Amino acid sequence: MTKNRQWLIAGRPNGRALQESDFEWVTRDAAPLKDGEVRVRVMYLSCDPAQKGWMENIGGYTAPTNVGDVMRASGVGEVVESKSAAFKAGDKVLGQLGWQDLAVVAARDLEPVANDDLLSANLGAIGTTGLTALFGLSKLGKPFAGDTMVITGAAGATGSVVGQIGKISGCHVVGIAGGADKCQWLVDELGFDSAIDYKAGDIRSQLKKHAPHGIDVVWDNVGGKLLNDMLGEIALHARVVVCGGISRYETGQMPAGPQNYFNLIFKRATMHGLLLTEYTNEFEWGRKRLREWVRSGQLKFKEDVQEGLENAPRTLMRLFSGANFGKQLIKI
Ligand code: NAP
Repeated sequence: MTKNRQWLIAGRPNGRALQESDFEWVTRDAAPLKDGEVRVRVMYLSCDPAQKGWMENIGGYTAPTNVGDVMRASGVGEVVESKSAAFKAGDKVLGQLGWQDLAVVAARDLEPVANDDLLSANLGAIGTTGLTALFGLSKLGKPFAGDTMVITGAAGATGSVVGQIGKISGCHVVGIAGGADKCQWLVDELGFDSAIDYKAGDIRSQLKKHAPHGIDVVWDNVGGKLLNDMLGEIALHARVVVCGGISRYETGQMPAGPQNYFNLIFKRATMHGLLLTEYTNEFEWGRKRLREWVRSGQLKFKEDVQEGLENAPRTLMRLFSGANFGKQLIKI
């Protein structure tokens, strides 16, 4: 009988940092296939900050998880067995494969992907990461040529795509990231106009320098003090896109709301929450557009690939310390 290694959810990390004991490592017999199902050998797994929220069952925007479930994760892999006419052995697919070697998934929940050099990018720049950036900006950020855009978490998977679409849209783009290396990469490799190292000093005075006419588009992945500082520097009719708030994901006691929110009134600005699932019926054109930009060299991406299913918990934790540089992936 074929064996299947898995990580199960063993704890709920609400109000605290993730720890390895939140996961249980098991080896089981591979499950039999039913009609309409496909067995997929997992090749790459995506690490996303939202996975911690899924373990916590917060937000109510996705199906709840249970302790004992295989840890939920998006992945790409190869079909090894199929009881569906839609897929055959050897096909490459994308879906919720989970932290395991072999996933049994209903064919209707899988998407075919091209077997090319962008296979792993289906989890990043041309996958939900890139789609978050594309739809968040086009639907909510609404960038105009000449706008000043400021992005937190700018050197991360999502932020780095946001900034490049900002440049494609003709904006003046300023990234905020942790550390000199990440800031240098944003400017030298991705073409951001400038970058601010939030670990190095006073953000508010840096924003005044880098965005002297105010910020037209705020893209926030971090929340907390950085969001408050940016709200203090918005321009007239600014659009503030709230994509994430990773500075609060490991916090038990939530901070009070941003003191500078009243600037939304003075500047007649909007602040809008983003959830990618809102745009699923538009993914097809989004993926096509992102792929074209990658192929034309207008959209660059960096992947941080850690090897081994056994390292999955440690790899996911890298997101919350900023150890990842680029889209965090696990190669199985
Ligand atoms: P990522 O940016 O590649 O990785 C997370 C980054 O967050 C780290 O590299 C680190 O970068 C930064 N970070 C961690 N703790 C921080 C803190 N306390 N203060 C400031 N920065 C911190 O991850 P991602 O997958 O692209 O996700 C980025 C954000 O987008 C997350 O907030 C996520 O929840 C959100 N998101 C939202 C949606 C949606 O539909 N709304 C979809 C996808 C992602 P530094 O080294 O620069 O600190």
